[in-house]
Amino acid sequence: MQSVRQPVGERLVKRVVVAGGGTAGWVTATALVRHLGPLIDITLVESEAIGTIGVGESTVPTFRGFHNLMKIDEAGFMSATQATVKLGIEFRNWGRIGDRYIHPFGTYGRKWSWMADFHHFWLHASARGFGGALNDYCLESVAGEADRMSLAPPLAPSYAYHIDAARYARALRSLAEPAGVRRIEGKIRTVELNPESGFIDALVLDSGSRVEGDLFIDCTGFRSLLLGEALGVAFEDWGHWIRTDSAVAVQSTSNGPEQPYTSAIAHEAGWRWRIPLQHRDGNGFVFASEYMSSDEACARLLSEISGEPLFDPWLIRFKTGTRAKAWHKNCLALGLAGGFIEPLESTSIHLMMAAVTRLIEDFPFQGFDPALLSYFNGKSRQEFENIRDFIILHYHVTEREDSGFWNRCRTMAIPDSLSERLALWEETGRAYQLPHELFRIDSWAAVLLGQRRHPRGYHHVAEMMPEQTLRDELARMKREIAGLVDRMPSHREFLNAYCPAEAPD
Ligand SMILES: Cc1cc2nc3c(=O)[nH]c(=O)nc-3n(C[C@H](O)[C@H](O)[C@H](O)COP(=O)(O)OP(=O)(O)OC[C@H]3O[C@@H](n4cnc5c(N)ncnc54)[C@H](O)[C@@H]3O)c2cc1C
Repeated sequence: MQSVRQPVGERLVKRVVVAGGGTAGWVTATALVRHLGPLIDITLVESEAIGTIGVGESTVPTFRGFHNLMKIDEAGFMSATQATVKLGIEFRNWGRIGDRYIHPFGTYGRKWSWMADFHHFWLHASARGFGGALNDYCLESVAGEADRMSLAPPLAPSYAYHIDAARYARALRSLAEPAGVRRIEGKIRTVELNPESGFIDALVLDSGSRVEGDLFIDCTGFRSLLLGEALGVAFEDWGHWIRTDSAVAVQSTSNGPEQPYTSAIAHEAGWRWRIPLQHRDGNGFVFASEYMSSDEACARLLSEISGEPLFDPWLIRFKTGTRAKAWHKNCLALGLAGGFIEPLESTSIHLMMAAVTRLIEDFPFQGFDPALLSYFNGKSRQEFENIRDFIILHYHVTEREDSGFWNRCRTMAIPDSLSERLALWEETGRAYQLPHELFRIDSWAAVLLGQRRHPRGYHHVAEMMPEQTLRDELARMKREIAGLVDRMPSHREFLNAYCPAEAPD
């Protein structure tokens, strides 16, 4: 397949080969067959002997938008994946040991002025000694703290899910295969390149069979067999900004409430997650190997989880960074094969879904035009960099001085793009969301304020509201949210009624 222009209307890219059957592989195959099924042939190659990474169970609300596009029935999907609701993330010990805040998926308060976001009014009230906690003005935070959930009007929260990753890939497979995706079980031995164009011609399996295609989607995980190994697209390592490079993970029996949020509990060399599902918990200890051994991480994880471990913990090494290009010649890498930002804000599945959506929008029916690839790669890079900055923020904006890890994170040089945002926030209290950026203004405000970075200034429009009016309006808003949450069923009652889990394996 050449990168030259073809007559308009001629369809040259018809055979799509997805290499890998983890979350990325099945998300890609399902989305392609659902949206472009009549126009293309889709083959997925995976190796059960190699298996999948087995983590990736916390999501963000864009996941729901992607499922809506794919017309996936929500309750059925939640039952099949033993899903629970996620209204945000609880952060403990990040600003200082003992601190706690929620980064909710919803918005704070109400937009009272086009000039300034709600948090400016809240900062003004706080400076005068009233207003209470910012979280009290966010439905998702209040519902999360109360373990409540409802989809009933007048106001349903913004939410995502906690899912069983293995069941999710299986659920997608059960949609994709009947819709026409051909699955081949087998190990890819080599990637055959065209000697003239350098494009991928075929995957050669251990069995000796060849799988030919026009477009190859590399979903082989960290191995990046096609884009990285065969096509030699370099990995750009962001490890100097994000020091965590390892995790030990273990599943455990549920013990305690299925809280509708992920927990991210910082420790001296990273953080620990708890992801509650309907039938078990997912747990993991993320750490920087420079500051903690895997044996210590494993022992700490086992001593800190609340339920009984269901298996032995497994160790995962990773690098934060991205491939120099996500799409090169006739190969696009999605999921871990294309890049990874450590899992603190659960952004990996979002990134792959955003990229698949773009692929469908800009599918290269007529060949691999360099302008299309450059447009696609530019968007992917922007998305990765915006998320990277948001993750660095959590590590950098801290007052912790109790370990070498935190001293380094606190004092390290950060990307210019983040320095500029921080400077603007500190002077003016202004946060912003770039076009196509995942994290919203309220996300930036939640982390900055949650980690004690109070700005020196805020928009003076807040002073134009008479103080008594501001007091009354804030009190009314809090009462309204508390009233709504009081009427919601518990998270468990919601799950039982809406999407009771299918029996565990
Ligand atoms: C510690 C950790 C925690 C994470 N937590 C989250 C989270 O909470 N939320 C989130 O969104 N993301 C999270 N992620 C990321 C998430 O796990 C991945 O984005 C997601 O699982 C997709 O992985 P994948 O499909 O790209 O790779 P994998 O799951 O590794 O799948 C790779 C596939 O390629 C196949 N394969 C590889 N080599 C060959 C070969 N030679 N022949 C044939 N087949 C082959 C494998 O069999 C497998 O099917 C986390 C990642 C890590 C490391």
